[in-house]
Amino acid sequence: MENLTAVCTLSALACPDCGGDLWEMMETRPLRYRCHTGHAYVARSLDKAQADAAEHALWASVRALKEREMLLRRLAHVAQATGDTAQAAIGRRQADRVKAQAEKLGQLMENGIDSA
Ligand SMILES: [Zn+2]
Repeated sequence: MENLTAVCTLSALACPDCGGDLWEMMETRPLRYRCHTGHAYVARSLDKAQADAAEHALWASVRALKEREMLLRRLAHVAQATGDTAQAAIGRRQADRVKAQAEKLGQLMENGIDSA
């Protein structure tokens, strides 16, 4: 589609596949969407793609928090080994806080974000 503006209006949404602008086709039911790259959706497939993208991003956040916890514990271990017990204690508290955040987010995901 060369000229989306003739048959579509620019939506406020991003394409779940490429992140580009998503255009809503005029006067179609069910609603249809396209991006400049050529990804096309009906309302239901866009809903599914958005839900999948949100779930993927949230699991990536859980992974990032777990990696942060591992680094904080490693830094605390090194601080303890070099005699900096105060810094080691700070690091362990930070790691515990990050671990709790990851666990809360993981529980939310396992319960299903749609049912929350
Ligand atoms: Zn796209």
